[in-house]
Amino acid sequence: MELSEEIRNKYQPVIGLEIHAQMLTNTKAYSNDKNEYGAAPNTNVSPITLGHPGTLPRMNAKTIDYAIKMGLALGCDIAPEQHFARKNYFYPDLPKGYQITQDTTPICTGGKVFVKNEKGETKKIGITRIHMEEDAGKSIHDIDPFNTLIDLNRAGVPLIEIVSEPDIRSSQEAYNYVTEIRQLVRYLEICDGNMEEGSLRCDANISVMLKGAKEYGVRVEVKNMNSIRNVQRAIEHEITRHILAIEKGEQLFQETRNFDALKGVTTAMRSKEAANDYRFFPEPDLQPIRVAPAKIDQLRAEMPPLPAELMSKYTGELKLSEYDAQILTDQKEIALYFEEIIKHTSNYKMAANWLMGDVKSYMNSKAIGIKDFPISAQNIAGLVNLIDEGKVSNNLASQKVFPELLKGTMTALEIAEEHDWIQNSDESDLKSIILAVFEENPAEFERFKAGEKKLTGFIMGKVMQKSAGKADPRSASKLINELSQVQ
Ligand code: ADP
Ligand code: MG
Repeated sequence: MELSEEIRNKYQPVIGLEIHAQMLTNTKAYSNDKNEYGAAPNTNVSPITLGHPGTLPRMNAKTIDYAIKMGLALGCDIAPEQHFARKNYFYPDLPKGYQITQDTTPICTGGKVFVKNEKGETKKIGITRIHMEEDAGKSIHDIDPFNTLIDLNRAGVPLIEIVSEPDIRSSQEAYNYVTEIRQLVRYLEICDGNMEEGSLRCDANISVMLKGAKEYGVRVEVKNMNSIRNVQRAIEHEITRHILAIEKGEQLFQETRNFDALKGVTTAMRSKEAANDYRFFPEPDLQPIRVAPAKIDQLRAEMPPLPAELMSKYTGELKLSEYDAQILTDQKEIALYFEEIIKHTSNYKMAANWLMGDVKSYMNSKAIGIKDFPISAQNIAGLVNLIDEGKVSNNLASQKVFPELLKGTMTALEIAEEHDWIQNSDESDLKSIILAVFEENPAEFERFKAGEKKLTGFIMGKVMQKSAGKADPRSASKLINELSQVQ
């Protein structure tokens, strides 16, 4: 059965996301085992990770700091006192038989994040909680045809779980929400945000209800999406499946489903009614955590400027377009480089154009990031100022000064002076060049005078040639028009 637009429009999707982020710590959450992706299987596994009798976990303080930073970035309250809990269940990739997590006292509660909806309007998504826990090992089913293999390197890797309120109303909003969270963990450098490698994972809870209904429908939880696009695809698929089921009068069950990216469909994994009773109880081997207000202040002071702040600074104070601001803030390194440029120039728009234009294309052509880009932000600002002051044309800056800047330590001004590239702003000089061009190209000049405006480019080209690229195109074009009237 196809789902018509009309039927789809009768329903309101409701979505809440649970995002697990692996923390970029050197060691695991409760042991000194290395936290590293891609190591030879089962090489970072000590008796503590295995939960052998007589071993004791010890809290990695970095995880607490990272969780607090994420909480502050999302405007959460930080719990002054918390404890850990044991969540008991059996699974081959969980050698201890329980996961150390936080149950009744999550480290952060009650935050929010702003995302764009389909119409481009900003809306608030509530954050229910962030808690700290540990990852499980990995069961590998696709290497050995007869056996399941286990790699316990991941067991005990620190995670934070960020749980949203069911405030998301479409797969597009969900896409934007995950993008936002990924950007934040990357800005804070607490997680690399790599969904393909599983360092950022998203479970999507989805239900649908008739528009205007007071109560949410039956929700399912979908797992195993390895990209943000697949989170969106899985949600779209579930919305359609739910609506069709309801329309056919079928019963939906609260269950956990698996997303198959190749087929673009979800399949049932386990039903929630039969869910384990985890027998949560306070973890007896770890001390409660106390967070002093001074600690929170210290962590706040360590935080970089966040994308939302930068966005509003760029679109407000600097008067850049939303589009430019978006590109500039997409990656922290680019944003911080831009911040450095604008310390040395006040032509923000031109600075943005240079960063997103010549600088980006150079980095793309060399496949490098801004960290390896050879020109300092201050020197780019110097180049922008040269153009802004009319000393070199944009073209000359791009074609001549920029490649020289790439070579060494000279400033743009030094380069331009050394090569005698400082633009001729002297009008009489420019005038004589233009008149010479008219004289040397009489046929084109006559046609131009007669109104053939497309010859502007030709004449301009000749003027540029004659001035060795130094003529300021704006004044040249003005003068060409003026002079052609009187000649
Ligand atoms: P569980 O432990 O079963 O996963 P949680 O209380 O942690 O349950 O909730 C998980 C997520 O489900 C939250 O992100 C929440 O916003 C979302 N959620 C709750 N009810 C619904 C619903 N009816 N439809 C969609 N999402 C929901
Ligand atoms: Mg859940």
